[in-house]
Amino acid sequence: MCPRLKAVSNSNTELGDSWEYEPAPEGTRPEISDSYGLFIDGEFVEPSSGKMMKTVSPSTEEVLSEVGVADAEDVDRAVSAARTASAKWRRIAPRERAKYLFRIARRIQEKARELAVLESMDGGKPIKESRDIDVPEAAKHFFYHGGWADKLDYAFPGRQAKPVGVAAQIIPWNFPLLMAAWKIAPALACGNTVILKPAETTPLTALALAEILQEVDLPPGVVNILTGAGKTGASLASHPGLNKLAFTGSTEVGKKLAENLAGTDVRLTLELGGKSPNIIFEDASIDQAIEGIVAGIWFNQGHVCCAGSRLFVQEGVVDEVLEKLDLRMQSLRIGDPLDKNTDVGAINSRAQLRRIRGYLTQGKKEGAELHRVRGPKLPDKGFWMRPCYLTGVQPAHVVAREEIFGPVLSVMTFRTPEEALRRANNTPYGLAAGVWSDKGSRIFDVASKLKAGVVWCNTYNRFDASSPFGGFKESGFGREGGRQGLRAYLNLV
Ligand code: NAD
Ligand code: MG
Repeated sequence: MCPRLKAVSNSNTELGDSWEYEPAPEGTRPEISDSYGLFIDGEFVEPSSGKMMKTVSPSTEEVLSEVGVADAEDVDRAVSAARTASAKWRRIAPRERAKYLFRIARRIQEKARELAVLESMDGGKPIKESRDIDVPEAAKHFFYHGGWADKLDYAFPGRQAKPVGVAAQIIPWNFPLLMAAWKIAPALACGNTVILKPAETTPLTALALAEILQEVDLPPGVVNILTGAGKTGASLASHPGLNKLAFTGSTEVGKKLAENLAGTDVRLTLELGGKSPNIIFEDASIDQAIEGIVAGIWFNQGHVCCAGSRLFVQEGVVDEVLEKLDLRMQSLRIGDPLDKNTDVGAINSRAQLRRIRGYLTQGKKEGAELHRVRGPKLPDKGFWMRPCYLTGVQPAHVVAREEIFGPVLSVMTFRTPEEALRRANNTPYGLAAGVWSDKGSRIFDVASKLKAGVVWCNTYNRFDASSPFGGFKESGFGREGGRQGLRAYLNLV
């Protein structure tokens, strides 16, 4: 079917009238309860304090539901449910354990549309991303790890693989369902039980996942889901009954958790922030690289820990890159996350919007020049920001050093591969990097010298359950995904 086009007068290019898609809002509306309890021992239960908190849609500010706020007593209940379940779960035949993971994966596929809409409503990301990336990848993680459950002895030949026990998992708001799947699937495949804490602004798909776990008859206590904010996270992370803690979020909180667990035998993995370089050499296919830059920084409003937020362009092509980048940026559609043609949705929360705006003010004060999407007025309600890039950025500027976690790209230039490498590696982070060149030898040389957990070559922001993901330096340690990711959930004897 042809997309319906109409001429619009409030053109977002300066080329006169342009053609715009008609609104194409997603019709599915998931069922959302007025309130959700905590998921402990296979049941939704009231939080012991009776305290609830609201979750809103960042694109409309509408209250979508209320969820429980778990306190230390609830954490205690969940950890003891996970401990009791652990004794049975670790003894279930691995191929039976696998069947549960496959069932969860299939159920996610069956409910894919509903989950995608829910994700976009609660978190603000465009439906085309939640529909085509978040939800299918979440299912893939359960399929992939279901495949490993009865093959752990092959994953680590000559060793016996034993589950570590009870794992606490704390996740952020940028990929709520996908992060839950990244964390839960390997833990269960390896025979562990779990207490998951979703982020306070995006609890709904984790709770929808809890319903799926009930539907597939996962034994009670194998997965427990506690909603709440940082205080709930802190009380979960410091519970003495844990064997393992996996955290994804800010470097600041990650460092605190590492300090608290120092000297204990709780296994820790951290997936933290980033300030990833995307390096464009003169011989790269520039049109292809432009798409990579867009995917690197404006995908998910820049709410991506591995976002290619520092762009390094070789001097000879900088004018061409900036001209094409600007044109491409002007074509991005910002607005209703539930519209199938939307490229850029809402910023996840008012607090995050404020943080990003603070960085823009700081960048301009330091002398950078701001270029952003012009075009139609943004909605009055909700948390919105136009995608943008900054030129005139110096390596010492705050916008070149700190993680912004928003749709803001800092553009810098370089002359030689050595200079590109030196500047790209000059950061306390090391989560990801991109290299664009037509020359294989240059790509291999630069990629091998970049201090980053993932290096994408002539592409950016591609994920797969079978490839390990994780950081260097202050981006954290431990890997998630692939055979390497299983290691965090096993004791090898
Ligand atoms: P955050 O680190 O505060 O929150 C991440 C998760 O940790 C949430 O579930 C939160 O409730 C929980 N948490 C908060 N304080 C905690 C504590 N003391 N102990 C245990 N758990 C705790 O991140 P944020 O405030 O949501 O975002 C702040 C910044 O973090 C962002 O601007 C961005 O730079 C970064 N961030 C990184 C990622 C990533 O994927 N690496 C994701 C989200 C945010
Ligand atoms: Mg929300």
